[in-house]
Amino acid sequence: MSFFNSIGRSMTRAPRSGKRSTTPTSATFSPTESNYNSNPPSPVVSSPSKPLYLCSPFVEAALVKGSLKTIVLLPKYVDIMEWVAVNIFDFYTNLNEFYGCVAECCTQSTCPTMSAGPTLNFTWINQDRKSVNLAAPTYVDYVMTWVQNLLDDENVFPTKSGQDFAPSFPSTVKHVYRQLLRVFAHLYHAHYPQILHLRSEPHFNSLFAHFLAFGREYELLEMKDLKGSSSAPVGIGELWSRWRDMGILEG
Ligand SMILES: [Zn+2]
Repeated sequence: MSFFNSIGRSMTRAPRSGKRSTTPTSATFSPTESNYNSNPPSPVVSSPSKPLYLCSPFVEAALVKGSLKTIVLLPKYVDIMEWVAVNIFDFYTNLNEFYGCVAECCTQSTCPTMSAGPTLNFTWINQDRKSVNLAAPTYVDYVMTWVQNLLDDENVFPTKSGQDFAPSFPSTVKHVYRQLLRVFAHLYHAHYPQILHLRSEPHFNSLFAHFLAFGREYELLEMKDLKGSSSAPVGIGELWSRWRDMGILEG
């Protein structure tokens, strides 16, 4: 069933008994599952301009092997709105923790713009509908505060029995998805060395691949947002193709 056509056909929801994690966590981590940890070779850089996250062995580093399709499919008897809501909560929480780990390196001086590629800086639309440049830490703070407020809003993410999701829920989460994608894009583009330093690349890759697979399954992710334009490509757009070729992503 399409997520965007499911409003109104959704069954009355059972109360959510706390949000649960659907993203692979450290509990699923085994050193032998990480190419990087089990066999630490030197990075093979085929092009001097190629970002490290697209280079072996980092691009292959993951917590889980194989396609992520099975973990994004709607489980039996679970309401599709509830499934999307709990996954959004999970992606936000995990991404926020990753950002927290590198936040001390993401400052007004190191990241004066919300960069996501050699020629790409995301701009923020302010209250006057004007597009403004923000330093990355400010931009990320705005995104995370905005998403947190939505998650806390019972009218947007209802948690009580008998309260249904609003008809605007699919379009709201699509906006959320686009902004979270930008935070992923900045972290990969500007802070990958710090992620490598923490040896977190298998975790971060798995989180992002899960985010991409889920976004495609429920039509929350636009390929044009992922790839960018030819004059200002999004750095992580290439990751999609690489992981699809590796069988991690489908479609
Ligand atoms: Zn930064």
